Amino acid sequence: MSGPTHPNRPGPPRQAVEPGPVLPRQGIIARYRDWLPVPPEAEPLTLGEGDTPLIRADRLLEELPRDRRPPAVFLKFEGANPTGSFKDRGMTMALTCARARGAQAVICASTGNTAAAAAAYAARAGMDCWLVLPAGGVAAGKVGQAVACGARILPVRGSFDDALAAVRQVVAERPELVLVNSLNPDRLEGQKTAAFEVVDQLAAIGLDERAAVFLPVGNGGNITAYHMGFRAYAAAGRLGRVPRLYGVQAEGAAPLVRGRPVDRPQTLASAIRIGRPVYGEKALAAVRDTGGRVLAVSDEEILAAQRLLARLEGVFAEPASAASVAGLLKLARGDEPGWEVPEGPVVCVLTGHGLKDVDTALRAARASGGEGGDLEALEALEARALDPEAVVQHLLATPAGGR
Ligand SMILES: *Cc1c(COP(=O)(O)O)cnc(C)c1O
Repeated sequence: MSGPTHPNRPGPPRQAVEPGPVLPRQGIIARYRDWLPVPPEAEPLTLGEGDTPLIRADRLLEELPRDRRPPAVFLKFEGANPTGSFKDRGMTMALTCARARGAQAVICASTGNTAAAAAAYAARAGMDCWLVLPAGGVAAGKVGQAVACGARILPVRGSFDDALAAVRQVVAERPELVLVNSLNPDRLEGQKTAAFEVVDQLAAIGLDERAAVFLPVGNGGNITAYHMGFRAYAAAGRLGRVPRLYGVQAEGAAPLVRGRPVDRPQTLASAIRIGRPVYGEKALAAVRDTGGRVLAVSDEEILAAQRLLARLEGVFAEPASAASVAGLLKLARGDEPGWEVPEGPVVCVLTGHGLKDVDTALRAARASGGEGGDLEALEALEARALDPEAVVQHLLATPAGGR
């Protein structure tokens, strides 16, 4: 007997999932308002964030050693948010609450995605937006978004940590500027809704075993928010066992793995290039509380994971996001004693979209010889342009095959 199956459900179909009514993406505040500390009179300031896909990744799963595979791997693709990263979940909350309190201007330090989100939501609210960015440390796509939305940008010499210290000094003296870094508690409240979605989405496809969630960690705010979300659901009886949380840092910016701050954090994954994480203690507590771990991956491992994701699953995530997948691959290789593979389904959170940082992807492709990607053809497009007839002849003569 066979009925309609959900494309994301592993194994033989258990029970048909009926298609629900088509609802517009109404944003996380409308969807989870009962779980969020939003002032009752506040009108949500939303771009339709949240409701991001949980994508089953079977081809990626097959890359893991046969005897060290979890039952399933999923990608929570936060790049599908309106400005292309999970920061939108926090920003809809921060700006909704700020507007309800009569604020007129926001400010933040950022490695880029917070800036892009703040600029977009501030534009929608008609508020001024000040962004303090580490000079040379922000991907072009993110700066482009912020500039397009009319934010005012102050580049600072130094790292994200220096930028944040400067901003904290400013808001201490000018309280009318609302800080929208993850220090702002409304931000984490919004970000915890991603944990609700993971639970709801896994439950919808019949997976109620204990899951494991892999997240890239910079400031530690997001992993703290997931922990808050899972704990809130568990307290309300919506979840049996809180998923294990795995925090993945880049080797050159891994203060939580090393156990001390890093003065000059270095990694090509700019979104997690942070040496003094504001939520370091809370991130470690989240990992400890759930029986997960923190681990570090090299830039090479990050780029390899980014390529695998795109080539095997068609999902283009920015380098920092690929760190979550690199962490899973590393754990599955079992390089170090005591590295158990999680027993339940694994969710890798892809925090931001690959289009944010196309330069890094192109550089990586070039470094690997552009193999299979026809990068050279693209770059020499004009010089090597063919007549349409020659293109037809070439394609007719080229056999197709699986990859
Ligand atoms: C902000 C960000 C992170 C890190 O989140 P933290 O809350 O700082 O730990 C990871 N990936 C992307 C794409 C981000 O924008």
